[in-house]
Amino acid sequence: MHGVVLAFLPIGSGPATPSDMIDNLSSRLRDWVPLDWHQLPTAMGELAVLGRNDNGHEELTEDAFEAGLSYLEALYGDDGQFDLGGAWLPAWVRQTAEQTERSTFRQIRSGNQAEYEAARAMLSEVPCGTKQTLIDEYSRRGAPRMDVYEPLSRDRVHEGRNASWWWPCPECRYPMVLRGGQLRCQYPPHQGRFGALLDSARDDRPPRITGLSPRLKTTAVPAEGVLCVNWAVWRYITCPGLIEVGLMQWLERQPGVRVARWENMDEWDIGVYLPDGWICRVDVKDHKDPQSIIDRPPTGETIVVPNYRRSQVNALQAGLDAVRTPDGRPYTVFTVSRFKASVSKRLKGEAA
Ligand SMILES: [Zn+2]
Repeated sequence: MHGVVLAFLPIGSGPATPSDMIDNLSSRLRDWVPLDWHQLPTAMGELAVLGRNDNGHEELTEDAFEAGLSYLEALYGDDGQFDLGGAWLPAWVRQTAEQTERSTFRQIRSGNQAEYEAARAMLSEVPCGTKQTLIDEYSRRGAPRMDVYEPLSRDRVHEGRNASWWWPCPECRYPMVLRGGQLRCQYPPHQGRFGALLDSARDDRPPRITGLSPRLKTTAVPAEGVLCVNWAVWRYITCPGLIEVGLMQWLERQPGVRVARWENMDEWDIGVYLPDGWICRVDVKDHKDPQSIIDRPPTGETIVVPNYRRSQVNALQAGLDAVRTPDGRPYTVFTVSRFKASVSKRLKGEAA
C-alpha cells in the first residue's frame, strides 16, 4: 500500500517508509499528503484514515470507509457486473465486490422478471430472519432461493449467559453494530444511535437501551438461529433498495398509476405510467459522490435522490444538462419528495 500511495505523488515526496506512513494515517490527509488541496474536495483533505474507537484501539474511520466505498461503487457497471480491470485494488475490495456480484445479481437474474422483482424486494424488505421465516418469505413472494443469508457477525450480537440478542436498525432492520456500549447502524444516513446498558443485562434478559424516541426505536431480538444478508448485499442492495421500494409503494397507491418495478430486468428502477399517457423511467441514485452518477448516467431520464442527498440535486442537474439518455432525452433530477410532488400535480391535471 505504501508503494501505491507513493506512485500517486510527486517523486521524492510522501512518507519515506511504510512505518512513517502508518504513523500519519491518523492525521488529516492534507497534513501529510503533498497534493494541491485547493483543487481537491475539502472533505477529502479533512479525512483521517485511522481513528481511536471506544476501547482506545485504532481502526478505520467511518469517513475513510465511506470514501473507499464510493470509489468502489464507481467500478460497478449498471448491470451489477464488477469491472475487474482494476487489478490494483486490494484483495478484500475485490472479494467483497465479487461476492455481491456473483452471489446476488447473477442468481436473481437467472429467473424471469417476476422472480427478479420478488428477489429484489425481498432483499430490501427481509434483511434478516430465522431459517423458517426465510423459507416462508421465499414461498410467499415467489422469490428464487438466494445464497446471501449468513449468521450474524459477532459485533452485532450481545452474548448473554443463557441467550444472545441483536437490535434491528429502525430504518433498514439490519442488525446494528454494538460497540463500547453504543448501538448504531453502519449506514451513515440511518440515524438511530442508542446506548446499551450492558450491566443491566440478566441471564435471560437483554441489556436496557437508551436514546429511544417515538420516531427512532428498536427492540432486542433473540439472536439464536437468525441469519442476515451478507454485508455487501446489505450495503449495495438492501440500503439503496429501501428508497426504491418505498417510492414504488407510494406510486402504487396513487389512483390510476401503473408501476413497473425494475423494468426490463432492471434496465431502470421504476417505470411510471400515468393515466393521461405520461411516462417516465426513474433511477434512484444513493451515491455519496454525485460525480459518479454524472460519469455513468443511467438509461432512464428521471433521476431521484434520497431526501438526505438533497444537496446533490443542483450539481447533478448542472452536470447532466449537456448529456442525453441513450434515446435522446434530457435528464431531470429530483429528491424523493419533489418527485412525489411532481407526480401528484400531474395526477391533478396541473403542469408539473
Ligand atoms: Zn440502517
